[in-house]
Amino acid sequence: MGRTLVLAMVAVLLPSLSQGNPLQVGDGSIADIFQVPESKDIFTRILEANSGILKKMIQGDIAVSNTRSAMKCEGGECLWPKSNNGLVYVPYNLSDTYSDGDKNVIREAMKDFVDQTCIRFIERTTEKKYLNIMPENGCWSYLGRTTTLVQPVSLTAGCMAKGSVQHELFHALGFYHEQSRSDRDKYVTILWDNIEEAYKYAFSKEDTNNLDTTYDYSSIMHYPSFAFTKTGNPTILPILNPKRYTGQRVGMTATDIKKVNRLYQCDICNMEFSEMSGSFASTNHPTSYSKNTHCWYRIRVPDSMVTVTFDEFNLQSSPGCSSNYIRVYNEDTVNAPILLDKTCGNCGFKRMMSEGNITSPNYPFNYPNNMDCMWTLLAYEDEIIQITFISFDLQTGDQCDRDYVLIRDGDKSTAKKFCGNASLPVFSSTASQVGVQFHSDREISSTGFKFSFKRVRKI
Ligand SMILES: [Zn+2]
Repeated sequence: MGRTLVLAMVAVLLPSLSQGNPLQVGDGSIADIFQVPESKDIFTRILEANSGILKKMIQGDIAVSNTRSAMKCEGGECLWPKSNNGLVYVPYNLSDTYSDGDKNVIREAMKDFVDQTCIRFIERTTEKKYLNIMPENGCWSYLGRTTTLVQPVSLTAGCMAKGSVQHELFHALGFYHEQSRSDRDKYVTILWDNIEEAYKYAFSKEDTNNLDTTYDYSSIMHYPSFAFTKTGNPTILPILNPKRYTGQRVGMTATDIKKVNRLYQCDICNMEFSEMSGSFASTNHPTSYSKNTHCWYRIRVPDSMVTVTFDEFNLQSSPGCSSNYIRVYNEDTVNAPILLDKTCGNCGFKRMMSEGNITSPNYPFNYPNNMDCMWTLLAYEDEIIQITFISFDLQTGDQCDRDYVLIRDGDKSTAKKFCGNASLPVFSSTASQVGVQFHSDREISSTGFKFSFKRVRKI
């Protein structure tokens, strides 16, 4: 029998965490990005794709089955079952008539669930019950897990976008539209006079289980303000701020993800993986992680080595990483050999931001040994990136061969290396991308560095 290698990772996130350094996406917080109006949001695309289809729908894109409120699902029989490892597998089949490009869009949309929920859409092999995804007529899904073995979901060309696919998958997982929530009248005004007569039914309020979440105007399950308008005026308006945009096409919000995890009682803080590859993220990623959590992620593979790569790493710093940290063990007990001891702080990401500050891990306390962090800063093509160090104190070595910061301008093979503490490095790129690498060797450390960066127009 093959040896099983177990690699376990513990993330301890204590209440002393002030706010967990919310990770930034693009130029603003993720919530801001979701509020950017797009010419066509998810639901508009779906409705356009559905115009003229005769299938009986409720709320525009939910196919009618034996009606029941999936979000209030007695005994859980309209939810997909959870397996012993805590994951919820939803088998699916993709129609052969889809192009490779379409299949990619659908699979990419499914991938987002992997990082942040316990839902795993898996390609069907022998499973009797599965989602049969095909380009039948428009974009629609049944609500929750139905009793029929082959459960259809229709996705045609009009909804081949990540957010639209995720919208229909949310229905299949058991979610109504956000503005159908039982508490919606506190948050939105439905302007009935502006709604096309034939579609008034689509604005019905349902007896939903709101899973102790706040109403989410940016949910991928929210109608846009002008859904089913017959007058050209809005049909749905946020009560407190009528100018606020509702609905979006980018993808799941933090609240959408929270709802999936609550409906399926996902314990995404204690996960076990046996797949050959996979990924996971801290709770609520990319927004702040929850306070006071202690998570174990176990990776079990037969007769193999396990490589773990962090795409993003941003934990609150503290002396000796005593409050928030990640630790990696060679096996799944706390007595097992430690592969990576308590690590905290900020150690790398790749993204476009207009400006920001970056510090070495655990700054302003001594950085850990054996670190390799990489921040890739992106700008638009007509921009460059300016980097200004505010503090800099690294171990000195001949030719900076011990601890160093290495800054690469675009994809050039040459890079500038900095170490010691004699001066504060200044760097201005010529390209629209800069890579900043931080390396520490296995001994002696200092307080590290802090630098600010900003995108500026090329002159
Ligand atoms: Zn829908």
